[in-house]
Amino acid sequence: MKIKYWGVRGSLPAANSLEQNKEHIQNILKRFVNSGYKSVDDIETFLNSKPITDICGYGQNTTCVQVRYGSDHIVIDGGSGIKVYGEHLMKHHPERNQHHILMTHFHFDHIMGLPFFPQHFVQGQEIHYYAVQADCEKMIRGLFSRPLFPMSYEHLACKIHFHSIQPYEKTQINGFDVTPYKLDHPDACYGFRIEKKGKVYAHAVDHEADRISEAELGRDAGLFKGADFLYIDAQYREAEMTEKKGWGHGTFDRAFEICSIYNIKQVLLAHHDPGFSISDIQALVDEAKIQFEKISQSKKIENLKWNFAYDGQTVEV
Ligand SMILES: [Zn+2]
Ligand SMILES: [Zn+2]
Repeated sequence: MKIKYWGVRGSLPAANSLEQNKEHIQNILKRFVNSGYKSVDDIETFLNSKPITDICGYGQNTTCVQVRYGSDHIVIDGGSGIKVYGEHLMKHHPERNQHHILMTHFHFDHIMGLPFFPQHFVQGQEIHYYAVQADCEKMIRGLFSRPLFPMSYEHLACKIHFHSIQPYEKTQINGFDVTPYKLDHPDACYGFRIEKKGKVYAHAVDHEADRISEAELGRDAGLFKGADFLYIDAQYREAEMTEKKGWGHGTFDRAFEICSIYNIKQVLLAHHDPGFSISDIQALVDEAKIQFEKISQSKKIENLKWNFAYDGQTVEV
């Protein structure tokens, strides 16, 4: 499976302010000079020598994730990232006319891109929506209604199908085995365990991870057991969790704990706060590094591959 992240932000799309951009550019230029480079010919070498997140940050768009195997695709959530995904398909894969979208829940950051998924307006395109929540059809229809949006649902050119899926029940969706599990989030929200050819992708956004042990999670532990790769909410810091308890978002500490208990080898941390600038996220990454060094031996996660997600990132499982 190849998993591409078209949007990894949480709550609201986020862009640096002009002042933050200026500060970021100043820092990059300072690093260029301090690295001993002088010529414009060195710019590309310098830029390529740094991680892309150092130069470009972590992205602006809210949740949209594409899971691909060969020519089979499914998509999770319709945050603002789905606009970029849809435009990419229109440009590079216009022959693809079947789209399978799994909905975790209907908070605004996970649906706001759907009216801008251009396939809705093209004849011959078919969009399949899958959700546990019974009101999925009502929610999607509501997005395409005036005065919220100028084109009504009845006038959309594509064909739309709604499919109900059940928690803890494995369903075949476009060649993938998909099982929903309940996440810790206000308003029903489901994580997805996606399996293909013996590989397991666990998607756990939005998730506060109040429950971590098998005893606490019960059947929901099935989301994490034997997962090769986990994508999980780490919007906040543990120190903030007294104030933000019940908001439905997790921390890197909880993500590391889950990887330790369920023996997960790779994790990507996501749902970055919209208020965080590039340097704010980098500060969080540095804190996570310190914490990881502190606990990795005792938690037996020394070999865990972990990072903070960025828009456009692709991971192979
Ligand atoms: Zn969210
Ligand atoms: Zn949410």
